[in-house]
Amino acid sequence: MRIGHGYDLHRLEARPPNGNGRPFVLGGIQVEHSTGPIGHSDGDALLHAVTDALLGALGEPDIGRLFPDTDAVNESADSSVFLEEAVRRMQARDLMIGNLDATVICESPKIAPISDAMRTRIAELLLCSEDRVNIKGKTHEKVDAVGEGRAIEVHVVALLVSSGA
Ligand code: MG
Repeated sequence: MRIGHGYDLHRLEARPPNGNGRPFVLGGIQVEHSTGPIGHSDGDALLHAVTDALLGALGEPDIGRLFPDTDAVNESADSSVFLEEAVRRMQARDLMIGNLDATVICESPKIAPISDAMRTRIAELLLCSEDRVNIKGKTHEKVDAVGEGRAIEVHVVALLVSSGA
């Protein structure tokens, strides 16, 4: 088995015209919100951290090296494309998800109301059952950039096990 850790942070800004925040997308789910992430791709911090946890477990180059933000192809990209590539690399090594645990830290939106939808979508992308995926939400107690609503932060740990293929 192999274990990997993924981390990501994106700045949040007001949606246009008051800022440059993109539509708020997290775990592949669109959320109506007054702020949104700044990012070269769609800015989905959860999918980015999941992708890096898999790539880290595999000992492969990280998301920033596989999909550089200097490459116009990745401009506004749907981040599920990045995760799908990591899953292909996992399968090529005859590995599958043992389990994955994510912690999303932000002041808003609230994570609990969207965690089931995110879990369903992430399990679908990981080609595993939903009971292997866990997503927790926390706030940053109003301190620092995350607590002031100016950023969203995600930590992910993924365990990969032999698929027996
Ligand atoms: Mg990112």
